[in-house]
Amino acid sequence: MDNKIYRFEDGNAKQKHLLGGKGAGLTAMTQMGLPVPPGFTITTRVCREYYEKGRELPFDVWNAVLSEIKVLEEKLNKVFGSKDNPLLLSVRSGAPLSMPGMMDTILNLGLNDDTVEGLAKLTNNDRFAWDSYRRFLQSFGKVVLDVPGDLFEETIAHKKVLLAIKDDSSFTNSDLKELVNEFKNIINKNSNIPFPEDSYLQLQYCIKAVFESWNGQRAIEYRRIYNIPETLGTAVNIMAMVFGNMGMDSATGVAFTRDPSTGEKKFFGEFLANAQGEDVVAGIRTPHNIELLALDMPEAYSELLKIAQILENTNRDMQDIEFTIEKGKLFMLQTRVGKRTPMAAIKIAVDMVNEKIITKDEAVLRITCEEIEKVLHPSIDPRSKVQVIAKGLPASPGAAVGKVVFDADKAVEMVKEGYKIILVRPETTPDDVHGIYASQGVLTSRGGMTSHAAVVTRGMGKPCIVGCEEMKIDLYNRVFTTGDISVHEGDIITIEGGEGKVILGEAPLVMPELGEDFKKLLQYADEFRRLRVYANADTPDDAVKAREFGAQGIGLARTEHMFLGPDRVPIVQEMIMAHNNEERNKALLKLLKVQREDFIGILKAMDSLPVTIRLLDPPLHEFLPAVEDLAEEIRQLKIQNPESEEIIIKKNILKKAIDLKEFNPMLGWRGCRLGIVLPEIYEMQVRAIFEAAAYLVEEGYNPIVEVMHPLVGIEKEMNFLTELTHKIARETMEIEGVTLNYKVGTMIEIPRAALIADKLAEKAEFFSFGTNDLTQMTFGFSRDDAERKFIPYYLEHNILENNPFEVLDFEGVGKLMEITVKLGKNVRPNMKIGICGEHGGNPKSVEFCHRIGLDYVSCSPFRIPIARFAAAQAFLKEKAQEVSSSV
Ligand code: PEP
Ligand code: MG
Repeated sequence: MDNKIYRFEDGNAKQKHLLGGKGAGLTAMTQMGLPVPPGFTITTRVCREYYEKGRELPFDVWNAVLSEIKVLEEKLNKVFGSKDNPLLLSVRSGAPLSMPGMMDTILNLGLNDDTVEGLAKLTNNDRFAWDSYRRFLQSFGKVVLDVPGDLFEETIAHKKVLLAIKDDSSFTNSDLKELVNEFKNIINKNSNIPFPEDSYLQLQYCIKAVFESWNGQRAIEYRRIYNIPETLGTAVNIMAMVFGNMGMDSATGVAFTRDPSTGEKKFFGEFLANAQGEDVVAGIRTPHNIELLALDMPEAYSELLKIAQILENTNRDMQDIEFTIEKGKLFMLQTRVGKRTPMAAIKIAVDMVNEKIITKDEAVLRITCEEIEKVLHPSIDPRSKVQVIAKGLPASPGAAVGKVVFDADKAVEMVKEGYKIILVRPETTPDDVHGIYASQGVLTSRGGMTSHAAVVTRGMGKPCIVGCEEMKIDLYNRVFTTGDISVHEGDIITIEGGEGKVILGEAPLVMPELGEDFKKLLQYADEFRRLRVYANADTPDDAVKAREFGAQGIGLARTEHMFLGPDRVPIVQEMIMAHNNEERNKALLKLLKVQREDFIGILKAMDSLPVTIRLLDPPLHEFLPAVEDLAEEIRQLKIQNPESEEIIIKKNILKKAIDLKEFNPMLGWRGCRLGIVLPEIYEMQVRAIFEAAAYLVEEGYNPIVEVMHPLVGIEKEMNFLTELTHKIARETMEIEGVTLNYKVGTMIEIPRAALIADKLAEKAEFFSFGTNDLTQMTFGFSRDDAERKFIPYYLEHNILENNPFEVLDFEGVGKLMEITVKLGKNVRPNMKIGICGEHGGNPKSVEFCHRIGLDYVSCSPFRIPIARFAAAQAFLKEKAQEVSSSV
């Protein structure tokens, strides 16, 4: 049965796409001689065949399953379906990529009214046999026969109340027998198919159910979120049962070789005695810390520790393992690369480099840019006073604020309406994944550190608190209470997932400090990248922050804010309203003084690194009040005092504002068009820059100035602006008696500029892609309107794959960029070319910039770590591709 079925001892553990993650792990562990119950894997190929053949299990596969069961029977000296000596099986799904909780597991398969008696006799344990049977009915009913799971849960809960017991483990034999009958009634009432007593039929249904669950709604949802191709399919793992519910010397558990929340190198996990698989992850009983296992079952514990270490060493990554202890003997049921929080991922990668388990480039490639982005998430401002209303287990760190919502569908609805939400549930199940994805964070009242909510949010890098037992949820009335505080659906709370704190209302959040591991990882990244990373920073404070984050310069200092603020707007208005040159120059002189101070601040903060200063860009009317506001002010003034002189002043401003008003200001008199028609504005700015630089040189600093002209699209514009800049620079340097190292360049923001880049390069010493405008003008999409109006519709209907203002449009805008680079470098081979549009901090766009040979990307200070990282990954991926294509 080539490619269709493999025994664990025969498969190739490297063929994860064929055996699925779980199958590959079981195969590897078996072949390493670790204690794994015997079994086999039906490969993902069969899953594809199942769908190709109209959802039928291929005949040859079923025959092969039957002969594998024979092999198992011989190995274990038991008989499948036998009344006296029954072999029981577990059936588990396993896709090639880990999809925790997405596919269902069936345990105790093979039990029926006869075999349960046989099991009881064989094990001399009546209670155990009936407990296993009721579990089997419950999961088989839910997963295979589609009976609502709540019906079983409610029956159990009801019985516990009747018997006044707390735990499932307190059920007696006769309680369990009654439950079995009740469960059968539930199945017969709620399923079209009666419960199959025949063990082989059970198995057949079960295999089909695993394949069906590959196309279940929650699996489809998960694949959509994580971009997992549908064609992969799932494998099915069938293995002999081992039992964690055989008494207090038996247990089942989940463990991680390192702490998945913090990354700390410490064995981490949870277990439940006298329990079976799903009990631990489902969050129904709160499990115990794994350290207690060392006291309860020391031998099994120390073997588990040893095996965990072996698994981590051979797989060279943190492992998530599942185990069962049957009457003191340990069995391994699964090993896979463990999900972890972004913070833990970074710590683990750095630690593993130090421990010489992986290399630095592997560490960089192991972390995703999304993870880097997530560790830069905010936390609660430690100086703030907050009202902590409850504490739970800190399952996934970070702080999140949002409106409380009690179910996943409503969560998605509210998010569509534009709200941020926190999903609050007793516990989550795979059916809640869409709500978790939509939420800012998750809070549950039950469950442990390995519960579904904990694992899934960690994977998504969202804050999460679980097991918050002091929170009593009333789903019916949609409210939770802690002490005497009631929180209703729609109320705002904050959760702090690193400490497990639930806070009433919106707590103030602050950006994080970069931890040592994070810094180290970025240092590794810096060793590999070719692109330099600059910051878009307009103020000295931003420049300081940017340096802290590792900026190698400023790629865009927008100067418009230097024209704003209560002390400056009146001067700018004076300049705009001037009747003659003399008046205008007076205003400009005042502006020059304040702007010089601004430039001193920025150039000083960026000492010895290049600072690209972009001259004034927005249209002048932006510095005047809106026409409507002015008209209203005049009306009010007239009512108060019709003789007021201010009326005349305001009327003049109104006249000017009307005069400057444009139908399409983005395509109007802005950018260098201002600087050309009113050159005195740019002359003032250039003078202020060079005076600031000269001052700093005298102070012993080393300012590196690059003057950048916005919105150039015509060769003569460039010629005029270059001449203006050099003239003022020369004059100022002469007056100040210093020689400065500077460059003059242009943004490439207009498609025409890209197409005549060779002509512009005659004068421009550098280019910087202003991809915000370049995207706007290439698509003809107004950047201020499109994202609010039709882009969401385009994305939903696949007219656009990405929002082009977020991810660079490689096909169109990207092509213009490639043309620019080629034309520019033809004229100036060493021309410095970079990007300063928002795309400079977007990982996919950074990769594109690397590929087309830019020298730098420039982005907002907080995105610098992401850009540094994306640049390193782009380099490493390119290198790996070169290696593979040369082999
Ligand atoms: C751009 O257009 O990409 C740019 C950086 O300039 P601004 O966003 O200021 O127009
Ligand atoms: Mg622009």
